[in-house]
Amino acid sequence: MVVADSGPDGTGQPSPDLVVVGAGVAGLWLALKAARAGLSVALIERGQIGNGASGGFLGALMPHSPERWNGKKEFQFRALVDLEDEVARLEGETGLPCGYRRVGRLLPLPSGRARETALENVAQARANWGARFSFDVAHTPDKHDWPSILWAPHGIVNESLSARLSPPALLAALSTRLAALPNVTVRQELALTGIDHGRRVARLSDGSELAFGHMALANGVDAFGFVAEAYGVPDLILGGPVKGQAALLNAAAPPDSPLVYYDGIYVLVHQNGLVAIGSTSEREFDHPTETDEQLDDLIKRARKLCPLIKEAPVVGRWANVRPRAVGRDPMLGPVPAAPHVLAMAGGFKISFGIAHRMADCLVAGLAGKKGPDVPESFAVESHAAKAAKAKTGP
Ligand SMILES: Cc1cc2nc3c(=O)[nH]c(=O)nc-3n(C[C@H](O)[C@H](O)[C@H](O)COP(=O)(O)OP(=O)(O)OC[C@H]3O[C@@H](n4cnc5c(N)ncnc54)[C@H](O)[C@@H]3O)c2cc1C
Repeated sequence: MVVADSGPDGTGQPSPDLVVVGAGVAGLWLALKAARAGLSVALIERGQIGNGASGGFLGALMPHSPERWNGKKEFQFRALVDLEDEVARLEGETGLPCGYRRVGRLLPLPSGRARETALENVAQARANWGARFSFDVAHTPDKHDWPSILWAPHGIVNESLSARLSPPALLAALSTRLAALPNVTVRQELALTGIDHGRRVARLSDGSELAFGHMALANGVDAFGFVAEAYGVPDLILGGPVKGQAALLNAAAPPDSPLVYYDGIYVLVHQNGLVAIGSTSEREFDHPTETDEQLDDLIKRARKLCPLIKEAPVVGRWANVRPRAVGRDPMLGPVPAAPHVLAMAGGFKISFGIAHRMADCLVAGLAGKKGPDVPESFAVESHAAKAAKAKTGP
C-alpha cells in the first residue's frame, strides 16, 4: 500500500495514495473499493459525475455466450454473479435503491442453425455457469408480446443469469457513499491535462498540480491517449470511441420482465416500468452525443420485436461513446513503463457488469494482495502489442 507523503508538488498538502481520473461507473467503483481498503483517494472529473458513457439509462447485465469459454468470459461471469451482493451492500450503506434485479433474458431463435447452437449451449452453460443459473431452449415465448412469436420461429432461449440495474441510480448511490467517506475527495469540473511521471504529479485544468502515489486512468475514451503517453509511445492508438444511441419508453411494463435480446437490439424494463431500448454501434459518426434516424430505426425494430411497447411514447433519447480498447477486451493494470499509472478502461459494452471486479483487481495490486485473476488479454502490454501490429500492418 502506498503511504501518503507530504506534498512533493510543493503544496505542502498530503498527496493521495490514489488519484482516480474520471467519474463514470469505472472510476466511481474504483474510488469506493480503494477507500474501503483504507487508501486516501482523490477522484477528479472534468465535467459532472456520469458525464460520459455511464450517464445513460440502459444497464443491461448480460453474459457472454457460454461456449468457447475463456478468461474474459470467466471474469465477466464471476463479476455478474457478485454484483448482486455488491449492489445490496451499497444499497444498505446508502439507503438508495439501484434498480438491480436478476430478471433473466430471452433470445428469440430466428433459424434452425440458431436453434442447434442454442441446444449445444445448454450443456456449455451447465458446465461453465454451474447449476445455479439455467439456460433452456423452449418452442415458444411464454407471452405473445414479449417478444413477438413471429420473431421466434425456431423457439427461444430463456437464461436466468442476466440482470439489469438503473445506471443513474447506481451512480447516485456510489457518489453518495463516496461523499460520506473521510478518505475520499471528489472534485468535479476539474480535468487531468498531463502527468509529470518523474515527479508523480498530475497537471490539472485549473493550473494546479496534484502529487499522487498512484494514478488510475478511468476516464473512458480519453484514457487511451494518456495510457499511450505513459507507455512511452504517444502515437499508439490503444483504443477509441464507439458511439451508441438508446431510447426510453413509457410503457408501464411489468418490472420482472426478462431482458429481450435479438440481433443487437435489447429491450429491458426498469423497476419503475420504463422500458429502455439499446443500442446502435457506430464506428463512424460526427456528433458523439446526438441522436438521429438510426435511433428511430432501432425504436421501430424494438416495437416490432416486443409488441407490448408498440404504442409506448418515447420519453428519452440519448447517445454517447463507449470506450473500446484495440484488443476489444477491457484494459486493466499497470502501465509497464510507468507502473505508478494504472489503466482501467475499455469496458466497451459491459462496464456496468464488470467495473466493481476490475476495481478489486487494481486495489488488490496496490495492497500487494492476490486479487481476482486478470486475463492476459486485459494487460496494457497485450493491447499495445495489438496496436503496434495494427500500425505496422500484417
Ligand atoms: C447507448 C449505450 C448503451 C449502453 N448500454 C450498456 C449496458 O446496457 N450495459 C453495460 O454494461 N454497458 C452499456 N454501455 C457501455 C457503458 O456505458 C460503458 O462501458 C461505461 O459507461 C464506461 O464507463 P467508464 O467509467 O469507463 O467511462 P465513462 O462513463 O465514459 O466515464 C469517463 C469519465 O471520465 C471523464 N473524463 C474524461 N477525460 C477526463 C480528464 N482528462 N480528466 C478528468 N475526467 C475526464 C469523463 O467526463 C467521464 O465522466 C452502453 C453505452 C452506450 C453508449
